[in-house]
Amino acid sequence: MTNDEAMKIRYFFFIVTVVLASCGGVDEKPVTNDKPIEPKVEVPVFNQDSAYSYIESQVAFGPRVTGTEVSDKCAAWLTAKLSQWMDTVAVQKGKVVAYDNTGLNIKNIIGSYLPGNNNRIFLCSHWDSRPYADYDPDKANHRKPIDGANDGASGVGVLLEIARIISTVKPKIGIDIIFFDAEDYGTPGDLQDQTHKEDTWGLGSQFWAKSLHESGYYARYGILLDMVGAENAQFHQEGFSKYYAPDIVRKVWETARSAGFSDYFVMTEGNPITDDHYYINKIANIPTIDIIHTEPGTRGGFFTHWHTMGDTMDKINKNTLYAVGQSLLHVIYGEK
Ligand SMILES: [Zn+2]
Repeated sequence: MTNDEAMKIRYFFFIVTVVLASCGGVDEKPVTNDKPIEPKVEVPVFNQDSAYSYIESQVAFGPRVTGTEVSDKCAAWLTAKLSQWMDTVAVQKGKVVAYDNTGLNIKNIIGSYLPGNNNRIFLCSHWDSRPYADYDPDKANHRKPIDGANDGASGVGVLLEIARIISTVKPKIGIDIIFFDAEDYGTPGDLQDQTHKEDTWGLGSQFWAKSLHESGYYARYGILLDMVGAENAQFHQEGFSKYYAPDIVRKVWETARSAGFSDYFVMTEGNPITDDHYYINKIANIPTIDIIHTEPGTRGGFFTHWHTMGDTMDKINKNTLYAVGQSLLHVIYGEK
């Protein structure tokens, strides 16, 4: 080997080394101390006018008292609306026994987005209206059914608008929207002392919790809406929600407050309320919270027109619908 050849060989190895160094290394990225930037989550805007119109449509049917013809018509409408926006819709039919031992035919309506995805949550509300205005100031109204614009229709209206939004801006997780029947068929106030029947409220959710619409149904958590439409509503942290699902209460209240709705989502503890979420927590063991308008100092402890003939469309406030709907969208689109 001549010096010349040795030079050529050394030169060759030099070239090979440079090429290897420039294309094969794992540490070729510039090293910085920056953390990876999380892509900003796009949260769609809640349309309160749209939610309001869905409440109006429900109220226009008349009182949606469980098992009545009006109720059947509204159920068909709710099913059609959910079918427009969700991947699948199921109507769970069942028979339950009311406080007075009459049998009631119920319909729970369940719309599912990404039904095959095990990473999911559910949102729910009751769609029936109370058969008795037993808290009406006029005793003559105590056996009349109520419009339930706030008590029932408001939660459903907010959730229908969320269903519509889900169909346009796709969340990452699976979502079920559940409308429970016969929440508000509980023992009338004046019979409370005479009948000692337990658990006369939340009949639809009790039925669902005992016989889930899908065997092996699983959700990480649930959020119930009840009376979410009155002006200046305040949502205290309801007692059973804090007991069964403290982390979800924290998450939802923190999310709502950082989205700018701290006037609505207040940090005070509320009384435990026997609502649909109680049975879901107790029977189905799915941590579920209740966003419910309570008002210390009123006769029933709820909004002023609770279980009266005055629970009508004019009590529905679009700012409140927006506060609740937009907060829920922040929760949904923040989930991975
Ligand atoms: Zn009610």
